[in-house]
Amino acid sequence: MSGKVFDTIIIGGSIAGLAAALYATRQGLKTLVIAKDIGGQLALAPRIENYPGIKAVAGLELAQMVKEQVDEFGAEFVYDETVSISQRNNSFVASTKVSGDYEALTVILAFGKTPKSLDVPGEDRLVGRGVSYCAICDAPLFKEKKVAVVGWGDHAFKAVKLLRAYGNKVYLIHKGEAKLTDEELIRESKEMNVVYVPNSTVSEIKGDKKVRSIRLKNVKTGDESELEVDGVFVEMGYAAKTGWLKDFVQLNENGEIITDKLGMTSRPGVFAAGDVTDMLYKQAVIAAAQGAIAALSAYNYIQQLKGRPTRKSDWGKLISR
Ligand SMILES: Cc1cc2nc3c(=O)[nH]c(=O)nc-3n(C[C@H](O)[C@H](O)[C@H](O)COP(=O)(O)OP(=O)(O)OC[C@H]3O[C@@H](n4cnc5c(N)ncnc54)[C@H](O)[C@@H]3O)c2cc1C
Repeated sequence: MSGKVFDTIIIGGSIAGLAAALYATRQGLKTLVIAKDIGGQLALAPRIENYPGIKAVAGLELAQMVKEQVDEFGAEFVYDETVSISQRNNSFVASTKVSGDYEALTVILAFGKTPKSLDVPGEDRLVGRGVSYCAICDAPLFKEKKVAVVGWGDHAFKAVKLLRAYGNKVYLIHKGEAKLTDEELIRESKEMNVVYVPNSTVSEIKGDKKVRSIRLKNVKTGDESELEVDGVFVEMGYAAKTGWLKDFVQLNENGEIITDKLGMTSRPGVFAAGDVTDMLYKQAVIAAAQGAIAALSAYNYIQQLKGRPTRKSDWGKLISR
């Protein structure tokens, strides 16, 4: 650890984290953003048409625009994954996978949602070597190959369509069975010449330097088989990956961080914003607003730590100044 103590550490570099960084730096807080990337889920949205003031914009472009704004006010950025947070009296230490530990008086948790993973042997090792969680991003890397799409519903079907458009042979691996209501989707996948593999889960992804095959288990019969593929697209939706925080802040039954209307979590000094929170509506403009709220609350919390205002009821007044 460098010995430098920040006023706030923001975890997440998408719209919630960047809006929080904008507000924090403008309040004069020494701000560090720790993020795995800039854009998060927003970068997967090719066209956003419901962000006030902008008719249409690619999600990544919107994130980059806010990042440029933040840079002007001097936030520091570390591109890394935060793996744990601990409290030391009046400060917090965020530990990262690669670059070490960072200390601050407050923390803003804005790390959104992450694609659900299969959690099977070979998956982590082969990410970027045939395992992907984003067909929109990676389909162009697979042309006329054999690929498996794992999942069901909207995400999976969009991935199937895209991968077929690149001439791939597509296997759709579904742990359940199609219902009558899915008839249209089944018809479409037949028309697209997709091989539908129901009642099956992936138990292992095999390959040395890149994906070579997957091991399948039939959940009804218990039979196992191997399927040769060049790619595996895990399209099972998104989840708030907060397991590492379960003893640190209160979570709801979906693993989302519970916050009040000021963005405060169950732990004083720790705030949260965006899709990682228990806010029902997961939208860019809402995540941005929550980021702003969390940053203003962090500022007021620090004021309180320093002996100005002392009553929580004063915070609202300060925020609106
Ligand atoms: C395909 C798609 C289309 C969409 N279209 C729209 C739309 O048209 N309009 C709209 O309003 N919304 C849309 N959304 C929703 C919108 O993208 C999200 O509501 C918004 O991105 C949430 O922002 P966020 O900052 O909370 O989190 P995210 O965008 O999920 O970003 C999370 C950030 O945290 C980082 N991170 C995660 N874990 C860690 C960690 N442990 N350590 C450090 N960093 C970490 C990630 O790298 C990322 O930078 C869409 C979403 C998707 C997936």
